[in-house]
Amino acid sequence: MNKERQVLKDAAVKIVEDRIVEIGAKEEIVASNPGASIIGNKDSMVIPGLINAHQHLTGDRLVQSCIPSYIEDTEAIFDWSVPIHAAHSPDDDEISATLSLAESARCGITFTVEAGTVAFPEMVLRGFETVGVSGAIGSWGWDIGDGPYVDSVDGVLERQLQVIELTKNHPSVKGWVTLVGHDLMSDELMQSASNLAKANSTNLTFHLSPHAGEVSQYIEKTGMRPVAYISQMGVLGSHLLIGHAVHIDDSELETLISSETAIASSPWAYLKLGQGVTKFGKHPEFLSKGGRLSLGCDTENAGDSKDLFSTARLFSGLMQEARLGLDKPTAHYALELITIGGAEALGLEEEIGSIEIGKRADMVLIDTSGPSWQPLSPDPVMQLIWGASSSDVNSVVAGGKLIVEDKKCKNLDELALAIEAKDRQENLLKSAGLNPISYWPVITY
Ligand SMILES: [Zn+2]
Repeated sequence: MNKERQVLKDAAVKIVEDRIVEIGAKEEIVASNPGASIIGNKDSMVIPGLINAHQHLTGDRLVQSCIPSYIEDTEAIFDWSVPIHAAHSPDDDEISATLSLAESARCGITFTVEAGTVAFPEMVLRGFETVGVSGAIGSWGWDIGDGPYVDSVDGVLERQLQVIELTKNHPSVKGWVTLVGHDLMSDELMQSASNLAKANSTNLTFHLSPHAGEVSQYIEKTGMRPVAYISQMGVLGSHLLIGHAVHIDDSELETLISSETAIASSPWAYLKLGQGVTKFGKHPEFLSKGGRLSLGCDTENAGDSKDLFSTARLFSGLMQEARLGLDKPTAHYALELITIGGAEALGLEEEIGSIEIGKRADMVLIDTSGPSWQPLSPDPVMQLIWGASSSDVNSVVAGGKLIVEDKKCKNLDELALAIEAKDRQENLLKSAGLNPISYWPVITY
């Protein structure tokens, strides 16, 4: 994922502390570094650590696959996700984030953007530190409605400032300004949050236009479509990452591109919730016209998995469908979106997203020894995107440290975490007054 998109054979990468310091022929690097520990073997395909640009780390995780799939998307969010979030204790936040990030690490994800629904950021930060991955976090930010942690503009800004302060000198986790977005932010909050992000040289993210209903709500309230409205508020720009922007018209598409506003697309979420991405979505067009696009997995309510290979493959398929007359295979765009392209959308292309000297040593070792990889294709990117699965991830290096080895997280007791998660799931469902089994009469226990 360097500028030339080189594929090196029989190569090695030398890491010192958390940086990539040398890339070259394996024989030479090994010979000139006697005593160095070696990760990987002749069957390892090494790719940059993957970037998940939209992920809720708390709330849904402990009730994954519990929310009925036949109810309306708004019911799934407001009758299930939001009450579970409201019932979360600080320890729930830590266990949920640790579990999510451990799952992510095993899938090769080394950088995760928390999508902005965290009650206890200091506990989520512990999750990042335990697993050993990097990312960006914020805190709940909304000033309309009666959901958990709805607050005044000043109250919301104070929460965001606390996260910026908490992460100020952190080596691998950044503090972002995170609003819920949708139609749940006042004009004043939107503008002051944008200014706060700019003043602290950090990013702003919020949700917008995942479904057609939101467009109607904006038109009814403001007489304008959502992107057009926030554009005239002066909020668009390279510091902003919009989660979704699925329902946009051609003029909004151009506005987002010309303002250099980035989008985090979570295509599995739009399909799971039936939000119309195949009929109305324009993310392939946005990308092909030079828009700053990244991919995410969103949340368990809308996806249940942190598999960015599967997300990239799905996006590749959506690009195929869009028939845009591209200059390279869609699989190559898809790999870029979860590595260097994602990094560019987050403004982090100098730090992560490729295997280049000086960058943080975030790398994934894919095991290509299994039957599904035989025979190897002359185009490894095509084979990786269309043929591989995250279960082919054998080892992961993050910040120069081996954090996944032989498909297991090294820094935590996965069994103890599983037992704790089960107990917490039961407690959360009980305290939120939700009973998933009542929705599934065919399952008997
Ligand atoms: Zn989201």
